[in-house]
Amino acid sequence: MLPRADEELVRPLLAQVSRFALESIDARAIDRASAIPQRVLAGMGELGLFGLTLPEEFGGSGCSLPVACSAVAELARADRSVAVTLGLHLGLGTRGLVALGTRAQHERYLPTLASGNCIAAFATTEPGAGSDLSALQTRALDDGTALVVNGQKIYVTNGGLAGLYTLAVSTPGLGGSARGQSLLLIERGDAGLRVEAEEHKLGLRGSSTTGLSLEEMRLPYSRVLGEAGGGARALGMILSWGRTLMSAGCCGAARVALEKTVAHVAERRQFGKPLAALEVVREQMARLTARAFAMEALVDEVSRESAETLLVRSLAAKVFSSESAWMVVDGAIQLHGGLGFIEDTGLAMMLRDVRITRIFEGANDVLLSHLGAGELLRATARTPLASSLVEGALASAAKDADALAAQVDSLRQSLHARFRVGVFRQPRWLHRLGRACMWREAIDASVRRAIRSGRTDEIAQVALLTQEARVEVAALASEPSARELVEQCLAQALPLPEVRA
Ligand SMILES: Cc1cc2nc3c(=O)[nH]c(=O)nc-3n(C[C@H](O)[C@H](O)[C@H](O)COP(=O)(O)OP(=O)(O)OC[C@H]3O[C@@H](n4cnc5c(N)ncnc54)[C@H](O)[C@@H]3O)c2cc1C
Repeated sequence: MLPRADEELVRPLLAQVSRFALESIDARAIDRASAIPQRVLAGMGELGLFGLTLPEEFGGSGCSLPVACSAVAELARADRSVAVTLGLHLGLGTRGLVALGTRAQHERYLPTLASGNCIAAFATTEPGAGSDLSALQTRALDDGTALVVNGQKIYVTNGGLAGLYTLAVSTPGLGGSARGQSLLLIERGDAGLRVEAEEHKLGLRGSSTTGLSLEEMRLPYSRVLGEAGGGARALGMILSWGRTLMSAGCCGAARVALEKTVAHVAERRQFGKPLAALEVVREQMARLTARAFAMEALVDEVSRESAETLLVRSLAAKVFSSESAWMVVDGAIQLHGGLGFIEDTGLAMMLRDVRITRIFEGANDVLLSHLGAGELLRATARTPLASSLVEGALASAAKDADALAAQVDSLRQSLHARFRVGVFRQPRWLHRLGRACMWREAIDASVRRAIRSGRTDEIAQVALLTQEARVEVAALASEPSARELVEQCLAQALPLPEVRA
């Protein structure tokens, strides 16, 4: 088992995880078998990974979110399916129980969850409720003696492995809320629960993904997690942990893809020299390196946020890290040439694995609009980074970051002035503002990390990425294509339904 909670333990922990991964995890075999061998899960249990963030009182290690993120990133270097299985357990699977559970619920579930004898899952998505979580049709109705649950959940990560499921369901009337949602704890053996067959997926094939059918399931009131009718609020808190852990997995994948590529371009010779000596290759490598650095800086910083700020900043981390992981792995394949397309290299599987990170735990386009809305509601002003740095390359990078933040602020103010309260009904602009904020968050976190380390390579990476960000944010602030042009184009090209204003 891992020793007491302490962030200084992260290094030995990572060494343990890395050794374990090297000795026990065969990613290609997991991909081919579409399953993680039981001995790998048991080994993770013995290492104490399933209890990493669970309270010590119940057999966990009580570690913080940054420590858990480090472990998930390390596992993702070896295999994304294993990393997602653990990340889901520590994030969406158990965060709600740890934060909102009663003493009796903790005593009943946490010890076996901490040992890994019971794996956790989390189910909100339904056939008719994906991005729109207000549309949940699975209902728990109070018949005076119990809650009677009927409905269907789909795409449940860890669905086929789990012993405990946290379900978001509609609970009309419960807790005095006519249209409220609540979280329920469902045990695998509960009568009325059917775990459906495993889905066949593009990537993350070793990770279990199933549906759940709930038919006339009778649950005691003690299975409500947190406040009855308060499920929607709790969901935000739980998802912010889940997204941060998922972002950490993206960092691990991008880093290992980059390392493989550095080795490849140094080794592979074309035109009489190593690929690494070609100017265009060098520029591509620099951009991929800067991305990998920025995503790590952002995820690390966001993982240290308080619960309240994590709600918004985890959106930026999730979108930036998932897009960057895709970009880095895709770039890695490109620089490997034909070899990158061959499964033996491991990059093809990695590309398949990371694709879903732009969709699950909230589709990126949905989250960008939430991020834009959060920015419009933001109460406090950002402290300029350059104010404490008077000279040198760092001060120049910080000034560039401040200039980028000023661009974002000016976009925010212009939207307030133009649309006033109606701005929240401008999805295209919310989306654009969200993307601009994502860039600001990534650059700010990168500059702060470079300030802390003082490393010249990190300063150079930030400078390169800030230049890219400023160009993109400037474009975002320009008028989006007129709605009529979009509609005209669609009318000619696609049989899409008309949208009423
Ligand atoms: C492998 C896998 C594992 C998963 N694990 C879990 C899990 O453990 N628990 C769980 O509850 N769910 C899980 N999911 C579900 C996942 O979270 C959803 O698929 C995701 O939230 C998107 O919902 P949807 O698939 O219904 O897409 P839809 O809501 O139908 O959206 C489709 C696309 O439309 C666009 N779109 C939709 N709404 C908007 C908008 N407002 N603005 C702009 N664009 C928009 C986006 O491009 C989006 O990707 C998993 C899914 C997969 C594939």
